[in-house]
Amino acid sequence: MHEFKFEPVQMPAAVEDLRKEVRAFIAEEVARGGFTPKRNSWSSFDADFSRRCGERGFIGMTWPKQYGGQERTALERYVMTEEMLAGGAPVGAHWVADRQSGHQILRYGSERARREILPKITSGQCFFSIGMSEPDSGSDLAAVRTRATQVDGGWKISGTKVWTSSAHRAHYMIALVRTAPKEEERHAGLTQFIIDLSQPGISVRPIYNLYGGHDFNEVVFDEYFVPNDMVMGEVGSGWKMVTGELAFERSGPDRFLSTYQLLAESMRVIGPEPDDRAANEIGRFVAHLATLRRMSTSIAGMLTRGEQPIVEAALVKDIGTTFEREIPEVFRHLIPTEPTLGDGDSYAELLGMTVLRAPGFTIRGGTREILRGMIARGLGLR
Ligand SMILES: Cc1cc2nc3c(=O)[nH]c(=O)nc-3n(C[C@H](O)[C@H](O)[C@H](O)COP(=O)(O)OP(=O)(O)OC[C@H]3O[C@@H](n4cnc5c(N)ncnc54)[C@H](O)[C@@H]3O)c2cc1C
Repeated sequence: MHEFKFEPVQMPAAVEDLRKEVRAFIAEEVARGGFTPKRNSWSSFDADFSRRCGERGFIGMTWPKQYGGQERTALERYVMTEEMLAGGAPVGAHWVADRQSGHQILRYGSERARREILPKITSGQCFFSIGMSEPDSGSDLAAVRTRATQVDGGWKISGTKVWTSSAHRAHYMIALVRTAPKEEERHAGLTQFIIDLSQPGISVRPIYNLYGGHDFNEVVFDEYFVPNDMVMGEVGSGWKMVTGELAFERSGPDRFLSTYQLLAESMRVIGPEPDDRAANEIGRFVAHLATLRRMSTSIAGMLTRGEQPIVEAALVKDIGTTFEREIPEVFRHLIPTEPTLGDGDSYAELLGMTVLRAPGFTIRGGTREILRGMIARGLGLR
């Protein structure tokens, strides 16, 4: 049985200095009109803001200096990300590259991939998308059917990826692809590839979401050529890599702060003298937030030590996304408001946008049912 351990981490003093630095950066940005705090911080794409984050050393902070990183700790990166999210900064353009793709390249990419791509990521000029889901395989990721066949100097890929966030504005994708026919061991024969989205052989078509926005896409590969040095790690060992990548994807503060703006704004609307019901709900949310933060920082510590806390990350994502989905449900009853659609600053619009985005929180990055299945297996229950 998996033993869940969420050991507390002590935030070193340097981390608190960095927190002040990031807060000052955000305040400066807001004051000079660099950005207006966004409700969907890590889903808001702003290439200019990403470039300014790169200039300040806020992207790829833990990576080696030789690839443009800062060689800072995972806890320092953690504090930077939570300040960006709490401040409503539009970090969406570089989010995926910073959170997971860059780590994958550092760990499994060829030397050419590291040298060419990582410095562009850290300077805030290169953005990534995630090519995991397919029309017939989302939860059951090992069932991917997009295929690569070996050709002279590399591989040719054909197939379809779906729900690919930001593929229409990213430069690259890391795609999970079948390189050998499915065998009894269903996790064998999969490989991750770095896909340059500017090359021929790919078409990207929009899929509009619940509130009519264009965040994700269908991506079709037609004999798309990838050179050998854009293959990640050993051919056929993609399953281990993709599950390790998901530990980065599932455990950070982005998995419980998606509706933080609504929580803060609701507390402001309710004011300093909440009635008993409002006080109970606010107290409960703040206590859950503190616990989630402790679990999530503990995972940041495990990732620093090179561990793969896959089940712990599933637990944080399940509890965290349930938390962020509950916030609009509770406050729409506490503050009777008719949600409306629009980009303005009103509480009704903030509520409207949050209500329409919320169903996706428990789907993206792995659904609740899948995560709970993993946790149950971890507990020895199945
Ligand atoms: C906002 C958003 C952004 C996304 N961005 C990306 C992206 O950038 N890249 C990417 O690759 N994907 C992305 N996705 C896709 C996401 O990862 C998949 O939607 C998700 O993994 C579920 O896969 P599916 O849609 O194929 O649903 P299915 O796998 O068909 O599942 C349908 C339902 O059945 C349940 N189910 C399935 N299998 C089981 C089982 N074994 N036991 C119990 N219940 C089960 C699921 O929980 C779900 O409720 C995004 C999704 C959203 C909502």
